Amino acid sequence: MTTLKTIIEPFRIKAVEPIRLTTEPEREELLQEAHWNLFLLRARDVLIDLLTDSGTGAMSNAQWAALMRGDESYAGSDSFFRFRDAVQHLTGYTHVIPTHQGRAAEHILFAIVGGAGKAVLSNTHFDTTRANVEVSGAEALDLVVASAADPTSEFAFKGNIDLERLEHELVTRGRERVPLVLLTVTNNAGGGQPVSMANARAVREVTRRHGVPLYFDACRFAENCYFIKTREPGYAERSVESIAQELFALGDGCTMSAKKDGLANIGGFLATNDDGLAEQARNLLILTEGFPTYGGLAGRDLDAIAQGLVEVVDEEYLHYRIVSTAYLCNNLHRAGVPVVRPAGGHAVYLDATRFLPHVPRGQHPGQAIAAALYRVGGIRGCEMGTVMFPHLLDSERPELVRLALPRRVYTQSHIDYVVEAVTEVFRTRETLRGYRIVREPARLRHFTCHFEALE
Ligand SMILES: *Cc1c(COP(=O)(O)O)cnc(C)c1O
Repeated sequence: MTTLKTIIEPFRIKAVEPIRLTTEPEREELLQEAHWNLFLLRARDVLIDLLTDSGTGAMSNAQWAALMRGDESYAGSDSFFRFRDAVQHLTGYTHVIPTHQGRAAEHILFAIVGGAGKAVLSNTHFDTTRANVEVSGAEALDLVVASAADPTSEFAFKGNIDLERLEHELVTRGRERVPLVLLTVTNNAGGGQPVSMANARAVREVTRRHGVPLYFDACRFAENCYFIKTREPGYAERSVESIAQELFALGDGCTMSAKKDGLANIGGFLATNDDGLAEQARNLLILTEGFPTYGGLAGRDLDAIAQGLVEVVDEEYLHYRIVSTAYLCNNLHRAGVPVVRPAGGHAVYLDATRFLPHVPRGQHPGQAIAAALYRVGGIRGCEMGTVMFPHLLDSERPELVRLALPRRVYTQSHIDYVVEAVTEVFRTRETLRGYRIVREPARLRHFTCHFEALE
């Protein structure tokens, strides 16, 4: 038998969405109109949109068919029960509470368990997670392993939490002041790097000893579990589904944005084994999201997620997914572009600190690269440096630009184009200058702030 080596997209295309081509002078003007903030561009003016992998994926024919099955009853719809069963099949958690997206689940969770004087401990809080912890009055502490800050370290599980620091924080703060430990799988803000099962198991052991619940930020649980399968000894022969079940069984609950590994365009949930917390959460849900069997979603959305949760643990899909992210990462690396290694699951991260050593931290090198990528190639990436995380200003951690890959959307030729554009920006890097923020809101400033280009 011959085994061919070329890895293909394991799907064919049934509906096409045209991309509008633009020129560099047009994009220069569009950038100016958007105050150099790529979030303020119109999507129609973007050629390859790598701003986020959130809600931007293509649904399958089975998901589109599931939409028609959507039961739009206000209470107790069949769609809810299909959704609940799909979530419970993977997580095993008793209570499944739908929300319109991940941050709504976070808001409800931290409104209940957060508060002044408390601290949530995580490998790395995602930006909305941190904001929701902080808005409750609590502190959000990131305790990721040291190798996470070293973009050249090839350690296989750079999303792991530092167990010594975790133990230290739990001992010094005490269980009254730590409402929960939150493991983000994969670690989005830390480069999309996975957490090992061994690390999750050790976190379970420490948290149990201290009587503190363990929750997962499960947005990319399937990608994380595929990394466990391919990188962690003892898991190669296991199905990703069973690895996910083993991982979730270590925790007491999770929040999830279904816009990532739910393979849906909208949705999320909070799941928990804690009866008291679930009751409080449902009461808050009614206030802000909707009745507990739809939580801000249409019945058809719940069905799309239920089907997405089945498709996302399909190993042919995950193989294609992880290999195509690595393809972008490896080709940039080969061209000499500084990227975070090894490749994460959903995105490739340019290391802006090494990319633009002549632009100081205060002048937002990540923003300079993101703006240049749009101007040169019409590509929209996402700054993950001192604009998104102002606390990085006083840190040594590298500033990043994330090129997130929407699921099942772009083909290899699109990615080859991205490699060429990034390489071109890198070749002309010495001509790039920094930026100054001239207008910003109090929180999550990267979404709406205005920039001015420095001379
Ligand atoms: C996207 C994301 C969230 C928030 O989910 P939304 O659906 O965008 O509200 C939370 N945590 C992580 C790790 C994420 O990637």
